[in-house]
Amino acid sequence: MSESLSLVWLRRDLRLHDNAALYHALKSGRPVLPIFIFDRKILDALDDRCDRRVEFLVQEIDRLRDELAQLGSTLVVRYGTPVDIWKELITQYTIADVFTNHDYEGYAKERDKAIGDLLAEHSIGFHTSKDQTLFERDEVLSGKKTPYTVFTPYSRNWREKLTDFYLKAYPTEKYVGQYWKTQPLPAPTLKEMGFLPVGDPFPPRTVSRVLLDNYKKTRDIPALPHSTSELSIHLRFGTVSVRDLARQAKEADDQTFLNELCWRDFYFQVLDHFPHVEKNSFRREYDQIEWRNNEAEFDKWCRGETGYPIVDAGMRQLNTIGWMHNRVRMITASFLCKHLLIDWRWGEAYFGKKLRDYDLSANNGGWQWAAGSGTDAAPYFRVFNPTLQAGKFDAKGVYIRHWVPEVDKPTYPKPMVEHTMARQRAVDTYRKALKKV
Ligand code: FAD
Repeated sequence: MSESLSLVWLRRDLRLHDNAALYHALKSGRPVLPIFIFDRKILDALDDRCDRRVEFLVQEIDRLRDELAQLGSTLVVRYGTPVDIWKELITQYTIADVFTNHDYEGYAKERDKAIGDLLAEHSIGFHTSKDQTLFERDEVLSGKKTPYTVFTPYSRNWREKLTDFYLKAYPTEKYVGQYWKTQPLPAPTLKEMGFLPVGDPFPPRTVSRVLLDNYKKTRDIPALPHSTSELSIHLRFGTVSVRDLARQAKEADDQTFLNELCWRDFYFQVLDHFPHVEKNSFRREYDQIEWRNNEAEFDKWCRGETGYPIVDAGMRQLNTIGWMHNRVRMITASFLCKHLLIDWRWGEAYFGKKLRDYDLSANNGGWQWAAGSGTDAAPYFRVFNPTLQAGKFDAKGVYIRHWVPEVDKPTYPKPMVEHTMARQRAVDTYRKALKKV
C-alpha cells in the first residue's frame, strides 16, 4: 500500500500562503498533495476560444507548479468532469482526507455534495473551510437571526464583527516540509484544452498604500489610471487573500475600500441564502416586468454604439480589455435595463462572457441592483441620466475620448433613444408590473 495522503483541492484559492484548506491539510500530519481540475463542463460552455479567465488560470497554475517544484512537490492538474477525475484519483492514490474551501454558487454546491458523497463511499474524509470571504453563511445575521437583505445594516454588523481575529493569516509557511515529495507531472496546456491566448498582461496582485490613501477621492473617476485596485481577477481566483487585503485597508484606515470588500461578502451571502437569484429577480414581483428585449438594440449596446458616449466608452472598454470601471458598469447596466427595457439577465450574461473578473455573485448583485429587482435596490423611478453621469464623473471627457475617439465627429451616432421619453417609459413599465402583484 502506498503512503496515505491528504489531498487539497484548489479552486478559487490559487495560492500557497494564507489558505484555510491548505493550512488544515498541512496540519493533518500526512503528506499533502494539491490538486486542480479544469472543469470540462465550464470550459465547454465558453463561447470564445480566447478567454482571459482560462488564460489567467493556466498562468497561475504554472506559477503554483513552479512554487511547489521548489518545495520538492507538485500540483496535480487534470482536465475533465470533477466526479470522473475524483474517481480516478481515488484509484491512483491512497487518500485519507480531502480538504477544500467553500464555494457558494449553485453548481459548485451540487458538485461538492456529489464529491463529498463519493469520498464518503470510500471512507475518505471531506473537510471544507471558509476562505474566499471574510464572513459567510450565518456569521452575520440580523437581530432576528435571518440573513440580511439590505446592505447598510449588514455592513454595520459586518464592520463591528471584523476584529483582528478574522483577519489572521493561516501560517501555511510553517509547514512547508509537509508537501508530498514527488516529481512534477505534465499539466494540460491552453492549446490542449482548445483555447488561444489573448496575450494581454494581467494587473499586478498587490495594492499600494498610495492607492488606498487616495481611493475614496479617486475611485469614481474612470479616466484616472489605477484609481481602483484592479484586483478583482485576483480576488476571483484567490491569487490574493481577502484577509490580507482587508488587513491592509484597516491599517490604512481606508473605510471605503473595506466597504467594497463588504459588498463582495454581502453578495456572496445573498447568493448562498437566496439561490433563486441565479435565475430570477431577488424580489419576485420584478419578474412581471414586460421587457422590450429588442435584439437589434441589444446588439448596439453590446458593441458600444448607443450614441451615449459614456455607455459606449464603457462597453468598448469591456470588449477590449475584459474589465470595466465600476461606475461605468452601473451606468451601462442601468441604460440597458431602464432606457432600453432589456431584461437584466441578457446584460448579466453578456458581462459574464466578457469580464475577466466575472463572478456570479457580484455580477448578479450588480445587475439586480441596476434593474432595481435586487437587495438594497434604488427605487425603480430613479433612472440614471447617462449624460449627467458623464458630466459628473468624466467632466473633461478624457475617459470617453480614450474609448470613443470619434465622439465629436459627424460619424458618431445620435442617441438611439431619447432620455426623457425612455425614462418615462421605464417608470410606466415598472409601475405596471408592480401593480400586478
Ligand atoms: P476596487 O474598487 O479596487 O474594489 C476592490 C474589490 O472589492 C474588487 O476587486 C471586488 O472584489 C470588490 N468589489 C468592489 N465593488 C464591488 C461591488 N459593487 N460588488 C461586489 N464586490 C465589489 N465585480 C466582480 O468582481 N465580478 C463581476 O462579475 C462584477 N460584475 C458587476 C456587474 C455590475 C453591473 C456592477 C455594477 C458591478 C459588478 N462588479 C463585479 C463589482 C465591481 O464593479 C467590480 O468588483 C470592480 O469594478 C472591480 O474593479 P477593482 O478590482 O478595481 O475594484
